[in-house]
Amino acid sequence: MSDNKKQTIVVTGGSRGIGRAICLDFASPNTHVYFNYLSSSTSADETRDLIDKAGGSSTAIKVNITSDTEVNDFFRYIKEHTGKIDVLVNNAGITKDGLIVRMKESDWDNVIDTNLKGAFLCSKAALKTMIRQHYGSIINISSLVGVSGNAGQANYVASKAGLIGLTKAIAKEVASRNITVNAVAPGYIDSDMTENLSDKLKAELIKQIPLGRVGTPQEVAHVVRFLASKNSRYITGQVINVNGGIYI
Ligand code: NDP
Repeated sequence: MSDNKKQTIVVTGGSRGIGRAICLDFASPNTHVYFNYLSSSTSADETRDLIDKAGGSSTAIKVNITSDTEVNDFFRYIKEHTGKIDVLVNNAGITKDGLIVRMKESDWDNVIDTNLKGAFLCSKAALKTMIRQHYGSIINISSLVGVSGNAGQANYVASKAGLIGLTKAIAKEVASRNITVNAVAPGYIDSDMTENLSDKLKAELIKQIPLGRVGTPQEVAHVVRFLASKNSRYITGQVINVNGGIYI
């Protein structure tokens, strides 16, 4: 199968955690996964090796999604190599937690720029191609707390709630072009982002989860892949919770 016959999958923040699991779930001889990362080139190499072992192919590029220039160069590169984009997963995200009265302006800006502006820039760049091809799926990785709110995470919660609004607005804007846009809102998932929580806090969180355990990155990835598949073409503008029942 020549490269332009393969599905073109773009995943932001594919070097680690949920993003890596999403890249691996898409790995197959019928896809080429383009993923980016901010600084962990060793982790990105590991993701690429794992995709190879799973029978897929990929390209990893260091791209800061808060930079309009870097994002546009990334999508121009993809377009030059494949001419199309079937799926975009806006996954890259960061936290910089703190109580609102102590939150530094730079912590607010960094989180909003990465989690919300990054998704805006990547969606805008990908949609130029998707609109022309009259096909595409965008999946935004929001969060449980973007739906429920959470003390000590005003910047993160605002970014993830904003991402849900972005999802719904773009879904309405591009539905006539046969493009679906959905959000996935994971609950507490085992990844680098959550590993620094104290054991006490982890135990308290698990007590609140009806299914009684933390979720895995793969459990988020399977939902993403469904939303990118032919079987979900009548679903758009939705938020799918993957949270073990912690918020119903
Ligand atoms: P990780 O911290 O494990 O990975 C974050 C990824 O984002 C890394 O690949 C990182 O690259 C990349 N990244 C961060 N900033 C940028 C940037 N400016 N430009 C490009 N790439 C960037 O996070 P998770 O896997 O835990 O989370 C993935 C997504 O899921 C996030 O959006 C998060 O908010 C969301 N989520 C996670 C939950 C959880 O419990 N883990 C729960 C709910 C939502 P690098 O490796 O180079 O740093």
